[in-house]
Amino acid sequence: MRMRVLVAVLSVALLTLLPDSISAGFFSGFRANRKVVALTFDDGPGIGNTARLLGILKSYGVKATFFVTGSLAMAHPQLVRKAAEEGHEIGNHLWNHENFYALSKKHSQENMEKMLRDNVRRAEKAISEATGSVPRLLRMPHGYCRKWAVRAAEELGYTVVNWTFGCDWNKMTIQEFTILMKDNIKPGAVLLMHDGGSKKRVTVDAVAEIITYAKTAGYDFVTVSEMMELEAGQGVQKDLPVLRKQKGQNEGAAR
Ligand SMILES: [Zn+2]
Repeated sequence: MRMRVLVAVLSVALLTLLPDSISAGFFSGFRANRKVVALTFDDGPGIGNTARLLGILKSYGVKATFFVTGSLAMAHPQLVRKAAEEGHEIGNHLWNHENFYALSKKHSQENMEKMLRDNVRRAEKAISEATGSVPRLLRMPHGYCRKWAVRAAEELGYTVVNWTFGCDWNKMTIQEFTILMKDNIKPGAVLLMHDGGSKKRVTVDAVAEIITYAKTAGYDFVTVSEMMELEAGQGVQKDLPVLRKQKGQNEGAAR
């Protein structure tokens, strides 16, 4: 019963019509005409998680996208460098996982825009120093998505990236987690997981089975930038409905 409730709450993938003004610099998966899926890992690099995860991804030949915070990239540059050297894409997840939903309760939009720009640049510097290249994808903590933020990010050279499904911030067993992730592997899906934070052992433990399932089903794994290129190549109109966040994406503390 508990499982059924979890599935009902978490696996609702809403089809959302994004207004043109927000869609230009925003990506959250698309309706692909071939079986491709992007694995994304946030909040790292995480001690104990990221190195193990990189080993698993390497053994399966899978490239993923890591959205790292600047503060952790500065603390553990060797892990970020290793991920980049092994062919993974590195994205910006702000300096210290600032929550703009919370900040919006206390600050004007003008102040928030200044904080966003400062955060993006500060994290960008740390990531660039670790990897030798400048990130071009930004995932806002908690999936914060507002027109002004997408525009500001675009002006800094970024595309804001959300996801089609994620659930590893909920307390669940590895079996429950694996079932939910498998259910949400779809052509053009961007799956959100975490390699940062202290309680992500279940996520890393489940990754091999999720990868094996998807490969058996005929999926190729791509980075987010590769998926965006596939979308462009497929000629998808940006004002068509796109796969987007599930219910509850903007709540909670872990993302
Ligand atoms: Zn996060």
